[in-house]
Amino acid sequence: MAKTSSVDAVIVGAGFSGLYLLYLLRWHGFSTRVFERGGDVGGTWFWNRYPGARCDVESMQYSYSFDEELQQEWTWPEKYSAQPDILRYIGHVADKHDLRKDITFETSVTSAHYLSDANRWTISTDAGETVLSQYFIMATGCISTANMPDIPGIDDFKGNTYHTGAWPHEKVDFAGQHVGVIGTGSSGIQSIPVIAEEAAHLTVFQRTPHWTVPARNVPMTEEYERIWKDNYAERRAQMRYSPSGSLRSVAPMDISALDVTDAEREEAYRERWAAGGMTLLKSYNDLLTSNDANETAAAWVRRRIAETVKDPAKADLLAPKTYPIGTKRLCLDTDYYETYNRENVDLIDIADTPIDRLTVTGLETGGRSFAFDSIVFATGFDAMTGTLLRVDIRGRAGQTLKKKWEAGPRTYLGLMCEGFPNMYTITGPGSPSVKSNMLSSIEQHVELVSDTLVHLRDNAIATMEPDRKAEDDWVDHVQDVANQTLFPKANSWYMGANIPGKPRLFMPYIGGVGTYRKICEDIVADNYRGFKLEGSKAGAAAAE
Ligand code: NAP
Repeated sequence: MAKTSSVDAVIVGAGFSGLYLLYLLRWHGFSTRVFERGGDVGGTWFWNRYPGARCDVESMQYSYSFDEELQQEWTWPEKYSAQPDILRYIGHVADKHDLRKDITFETSVTSAHYLSDANRWTISTDAGETVLSQYFIMATGCISTANMPDIPGIDDFKGNTYHTGAWPHEKVDFAGQHVGVIGTGSSGIQSIPVIAEEAAHLTVFQRTPHWTVPARNVPMTEEYERIWKDNYAERRAQMRYSPSGSLRSVAPMDISALDVTDAEREEAYRERWAAGGMTLLKSYNDLLTSNDANETAAAWVRRRIAETVKDPAKADLLAPKTYPIGTKRLCLDTDYYETYNRENVDLIDIADTPIDRLTVTGLETGGRSFAFDSIVFATGFDAMTGTLLRVDIRGRAGQTLKKKWEAGPRTYLGLMCEGFPNMYTITGPGSPSVKSNMLSSIEQHVELVSDTLVHLRDNAIATMEPDRKAEDDWVDHVQDVANQTLFPKANSWYMGANIPGKPRLFMPYIGGVGTYRKICEDIVADNYRGFKLEGSKAGAAAAE
C-alpha cells in the first residue's frame, strides 16, 4: 500500500539549490522532505562525470557564501575545479550540516497536483510514496534532462554509448579504442581533448562550431586563495549586485568596440585572451548588442583559431561564422583547438549531412560509414523547462504546467506561475539563472523563497501566487530585454532551439543579476507586489 505523509515543504532535487534550501527551511523550523533522482547529493555534478568535466566559473566564486566557516576552511586545488572536486565539496556540505537524513535518494517525483480545497500539494514518487505538502519547490536545476537525439538505429549499435550528462560512475577506459564524439558544445569541448589523449583514434562530429576561449586553468595558489578569503565579505557583496553574479579578473570596459582604434582593440583582446575565461566578452560594452562590435571580437578569435590549427581546412570548419560570438554559451577550454593537430583526431562536418543512422558497428553520415568501439553523445540538454515538464504538475482546476507553457515558459520572476499556488522554481525560466554564476543566483532565490515562507507563516497567509498581469508583464519584459541583445540570433538552447518542436524564445532573464536582485527586493518591500497573498492558515488547516 502507498505510504502517505505530510510535511510543510517538499523540495525536488539535492543539488546546490536543494541542499541550501533544505538547510534554511530546516533552520526556520519547516518540516521538509527532499526527493533526489540520483544516488547522492550533487545534482548536475553528480551526473556530469565525463572526462574533462569542470566548472567554467572560478571556484572561489562558484561556491556557497552562506557559511563563513566553510568558505574560510575549504581549499580548492585549482582555479576552475574539476567535477570530482566540486562533488567532494557538495558532499562535505551535506555532511557538515547533516542534510542527507531528510533526502530520499534514487527517487523521482512523478506528479504534483494542487488540491484547492485542502490547499496542499499531493506529490507522488516512482517509489510509490505520496506526500502532502503546503509548499512544493522544484530545485531541479536548468540543465538536468539529457538530450539524446532521435537518430535511427540507436539500439542497433553493439559498442558502448555514453551521454556526457549521464556518465557512468566507474572509470570509462577508452585506451586502444576508436571513439566517436557527437556534439561540440561545452561538454564536447571539455571532453574531446581528454578522450583524444586516451583513445587510439577519435572522430568528432560537428554540426555547429562553438566559440571557445582558453580557460587558462592553473593550480590554486596560496596567495590567490588568501586574497579571496581575506576579502570574501566585500567581494561576495559585489558579486551579488554585479551583472553576472561574479567578478572578472580583468575589469570590463564601458566603451564601444567601435570607438577605439584597431591597435587598442588588438591590445584589449590579447590581454583578455591571455588572462583566460569569460572576460573577452566584457572587453567592450556593446559586444553583445551590436553586430559590428561583435564581429570585431569574432574576427579576432577566428584569427586565433587559424593560427592554432595547422590544417587550414579543419581550422575553417572550426571557426564559427553563422552566429555572433557569445550568443551561444561561450565555452572555456584547455587545448581544444590544439587537439585537432593530433594525428589521431578527425573532424567531420555534419552541418549539411546529419547522421543518417547508427549501425551495428558505428554510424553513417554523408554517404560514409564509421566504425567505433564507443560513441559519446555530447548532445546537451532539454534545458530550463525539460525537467519541470517531465513531472506531471497540475495547478488550480487541474491545469497542467505543460498546457500553460505550451507556447513557452510563463513565470513571474522565474519564481512562480499564476495558477500554481505555493509552487516555487529555483532559478526557473525568466530568472538570470544560466546567464549568471549559478551559485549567486541559487543563493538569491533560495534566500528569497525561504524568507517568503517565513513571511507567509508569520502572517498566516495560506496561498501565494502571481497575478496574471504581473506574470504577463514579466514574460514580456524578459523578451524585451533579450531582444535588445544579439542573443536571439543564435539557435541556442537558451532559445529552446536544440530540441525539435520546443517553442523558440529566450528563456533566461538577461537584465543582470544585480538588477534582478534589486527588482526582487523592491517587490518584496512593496508587500510582494504582483503576487496574490490570500487566505488564512487556520482555514487551510481546517480543510485538510
Ligand atoms: P550544448 O551546448 O547544447 O551542445 C550540444 C552539442 O551537440 C552541440 O554541438 C549540438 O549541435 C550537438 N547536437 C545536438 N543534437 C545533435 C544531433 N542530433 N546531431 C548532431 N549534433 C547534435 O550541450 P553541452 O555541451 O552539454 O552544454 C550545455 C550547457 O551546460 C553549456 O552551455 C553550459 O551552460 C553547461 N555546461 C557547463 C560546463 C562548464 O561549466 N564548464 C560544462 C559543460 C556544460 P548544434 O550546436 O548544432 O545544436
